[in-house]
Amino acid sequence: MADYKEWDLFQPTETHQMLRETVAEFVKKEVEPQALECDRKEIFNLTLFRKLGDLGLLGITVPEAYGGSEMDALAAVIAHEELSSSDPGFCLAYLAHSMLSVNNLAVNGSEEQKKKWLPGLCSGQLVGAMAMSEPAIGTDVLGMATTAVREGSHYRLNGRKMWITNGTLDEEGTPADFVWVYAKTGERQGRPLISTFIVEKGMPGYQVGQKIRDKCGMRASNTAELVFENCLVPVTHLVGEEGESVTHMMRNLELERLTLAAMSLGIARRSIEIMNRYACEREAFGKSLNFFGQIQNYIATSYAEFKASKSYVYDVARRMSLEKEGGRIDSDGAKLVATTMAKNVADRAMQVLGGYGYVGEYVVERLWRDSKLLEIGGGTIEAHQKNISRDLTKDSSFIVR
Ligand SMILES: Cc1cc2nc3c(=O)[nH]c(=O)nc-3n(C[C@H](O)[C@H](O)[C@H](O)COP(=O)(O)OP(=O)(O)OC[C@H]3O[C@@H](n4cnc5c(N)ncnc54)[C@H](O)[C@@H]3O)c2cc1C
Repeated sequence: MADYKEWDLFQPTETHQMLRETVAEFVKKEVEPQALECDRKEIFNLTLFRKLGDLGLLGITVPEAYGGSEMDALAAVIAHEELSSSDPGFCLAYLAHSMLSVNNLAVNGSEEQKKKWLPGLCSGQLVGAMAMSEPAIGTDVLGMATTAVREGSHYRLNGRKMWITNGTLDEEGTPADFVWVYAKTGERQGRPLISTFIVEKGMPGYQVGQKIRDKCGMRASNTAELVFENCLVPVTHLVGEEGESVTHMMRNLELERLTLAAMSLGIARRSIEIMNRYACEREAFGKSLNFFGQIQNYIATSYAEFKASKSYVYDVARRMSLEKEGGRIDSDGAKLVATTMAKNVADRAMQVLGGYGYVGEYVVERLWRDSKLLEIGGGTIEAHQKNISRDLTKDSSFIVR
């Protein structure tokens, strides 16, 4: 294992350092041995997932009072980078739970809601999902068709959510225990009003539509369509004020994008290590591959691009508040550069390994397939380009620092 103390970019505290070592050790012993099989068989490893609760990772950003580890965005980045250096698919399930559901609840839920659900979500007894996307709506998220209408002490929820990570926990279609659902509750001056509801397993009208099979990558996480048909959700499951969820949706998207960028770092780092080792050991024309200029180009360019992305991701993480909005332009920016970097680096690693790179046992083909999702999920790269240029061009005299 590399000695991170010597070269880490952000001068980690002892706690960050210990976290990285703990996760790296867990990855080596428990995550790596199951990664290839879970990818091949499209299995979400729930038993392994629950062990993340014992390590304090499932509620990594949650206050200790609710069973969490009370750590910051940097810690979340470290955990995602380490897990993804071995199994990005498994890490995506972790992200959907700990960032999209659990952190959202910790930041935006009421005291009663936090006391009720956070301890179980932090221990791993409950598995969470976040349902924003729909069959006909992704990037244009405020155009969602799912509605919730108040009827006395309940809301009547109707609609379908698509591509939901952890939407089902297994082949039988067992639903997630806790789903953070966004729905439209009205309009003001032609703009949709979005509200958040907590839907629990067993509520009548909530079911898994279908498990989405045969994904290109991220096959160690389950993805499903969720159906809400006259699902009666108690008013006590509304998060915050009715119609006021766009702010917390956008704020949590910043952390989602940052941790997806961190996953890209894990993929790239592992790919570089694999291509480097192979280039040193494999010979062609009487020399090891690392003597060929084109191979040197692959290795050197990958390393430099990885380091540049890592600087950006860790810089954004260091400045990110879990409570306040404000880092949108750079969480988009870090994800924009890191995801494409990871895909390109994994691609070069496959190229350096030649035929062996095309085979599962040598890992890089799985990383390559997994990396593609990061350019799509949590906002497509085109959405990041749109957001960044929209924010920059609001002010023609914007000073770039
Ligand atoms: C494996 C996986 C897991 C996922 N997990 C979750 C989850 O847990 N929860 C959840 O809510 N969602 C999840 N998603 C959904 C994901 O966030 C969406 O797929 C993503 O936001 C893109 O939406 P879309 O697929 O509808 O594509 P669309 O929005 O239809 O986009 C299609 C293409 O058009 C481009 N495009 C759209 N609008 C513009 C524009 N204005 N300018 C330029 N180009 C544009 C896009 O960039 C893209 O290239 C997941 C998706 C996958 C594949």
